Amino acid sequence: MSNITFTMIKPDAVKAGHIGAILAKINEAGFRIKAMKMTKLSAEKAGQFYEVHKERPFYGELCEFMSSGHIVAAILEKENAVADFRTLIGATDPAKADEGTIRKMFAKSMGENAVHGSDSAENALIEGSFFFSALEQF
Ligand code: ADP
Ligand code: MG
Repeated sequence: MSNITFTMIKPDAVKAGHIGAILAKINEAGFRIKAMKMTKLSAEKAGQFYEVHKERPFYGELCEFMSSGHIVAAILEKENAVADFRTLIGATDPAKADEGTIRKMFAKSMGENAVHGSDSAENALIEGSFFFSALEQF
């Protein structure tokens, strides 16, 4: 059922030159790329994307960080995509992420944590269509 998830390689990981290594991990884990682009969010667009967190104390910092540089956005397909991708990226706080996870390997901190992964099938569809039209999904 949940065969689609949405990811972003965040500005910290793009700046550090980890796009290739992160995409390799995603490939090795069996995800198929349905859509992908490098882009840059305005602070306003980042605010819209993370609207669910607008009451959280880190919201301002998060929007500033997510609009601070380029990101790579992608829609990924695999059986059980949402849960399997959350396992692949590891805990939000890299200090708590399991060995071998993308965040353990590449994240700097709780805020600058290298990658985004959708938290539900429903949000994966919403987040994917935030970045990609139907014609850009293959
Ligand atoms: P996840 O990305 O693991 O789903 P959340 O949805 O809870 O985590 O938070 C969204 C993003 O907000 C995180 O990936 C991280 O970049 C940032 N964030 C979350 N908690 C904090 C925090 N306590 N301090 C700073 N940034 C945070
Ligand atoms: Mg989340």
